[in-house]
Amino acid sequence: MRLFTVGPVMMFPETLEASGRQLPYFRTDEFSELMLDSEQVFKRLVGAPDGSKVAFLTSSGTGAMEAVVGSCFTPSDRLLIVIGGGFGRRFGEICDVHGIPHDDVVLDWDETLTEEHLMGFAGCGHAGLLVNVDETSTGQHYDLAMLSRFCRENSMFLIVDAISSFLADRLVMSEGADAVIVSSQKALALEPGISIVALSGRLYDRVLGIDSHMYYLDIRKHVENQVRGQTPFTPAVGTLICLNDMLHMVDAEGIDSKVAHTAELASYFRVKARDAGLTIPDYPLSNAVTPIVFDGDAYEVYRRLRSEHDITVTPSGGDLKGILLRVGHIGNLSKEDYDVLIDAMMEVMQ
Ligand SMILES: *Cc1c(COP(=O)(O)O)cnc(C)c1O
Repeated sequence: MRLFTVGPVMMFPETLEASGRQLPYFRTDEFSELMLDSEQVFKRLVGAPDGSKVAFLTSSGTGAMEAVVGSCFTPSDRLLIVIGGGFGRRFGEICDVHGIPHDDVVLDWDETLTEEHLMGFAGCGHAGLLVNVDETSTGQHYDLAMLSRFCRENSMFLIVDAISSFLADRLVMSEGADAVIVSSQKALALEPGISIVALSGRLYDRVLGIDSHMYYLDIRKHVENQVRGQTPFTPAVGTLICLNDMLHMVDAEGIDSKVAHTAELASYFRVKARDAGLTIPDYPLSNAVTPIVFDGDAYEVYRRLRSEHDITVTPSGGDLKGILLRVGHIGNLSKEDYDVLIDAMMEVMQ
């Protein structure tokens, strides 16, 4: 089985071995030490500014997106959302459920986000900008430097869903993001179930001033518990233990080296794919995933790769179902895996 998905992804042997062990009880000093250690390493990897707070949520990535929106903003705020695909739309739906008004920068699926898109929204009093820095549904990687400049000039908080981008693309929170959201099942290559949120001190101050209407997803409760290395509710204990190991593995390798490795896999595949005559869109791409454009038969190629070659690429939904397949570069993959993939693609497309 080979997964070129964006989560769950191919796991590393260390994780597979560790995830089979008996779980310990977690209201203990040992577990608290592990969680405080994970917090320190995570802050270093994500480049969190001094004074940042971290929350470990037992939820999928969407739960963390909702926790951030619902804990940091209220119906008396107005937000700006970059909507270039399914994950941007999800931010909009979360705001709707929480009664938070929003303006949307809506892009066609193959349209590059530029400064011009933002200009019309300057000086409109938005409290924050929500963006999925890798809009995983298309693989477009937005220009964070441009977005953070816009937010700084307009006194907005920048909320970055980096769920598929973390460890795949360069990301330094202290260069302008007030919140960064990460999940266990993407490049961390763990089981689904844990999401991590880092909040800047100034955004956390705002959280403290809000009368929360969240219960399970109340970020403040999670941060207050994490100060002593605990969570308010029973967490995914096993995944948190594997997370600690993985954070140390990445830290030992060095985050720049990890990102460079993913970039190298992505570029290896992209060169081969173009040589083979496949079409890759020309908007800026995340290293996490490569979109490939088809003429209506994308889903059929996905289906045949799975049934005939035991290879899973990432299919698309909705309007893009026949148009776009996505090939992941995160998790335990090597160049040889891409050689096998290209050969199999050529065979099913004959
Ligand atoms: C995977 C992903 C999510 C989270 O989705 P869940 O299914 O809730 O884990 C959110 N945003 C982006 C950009 C993603 O790639």
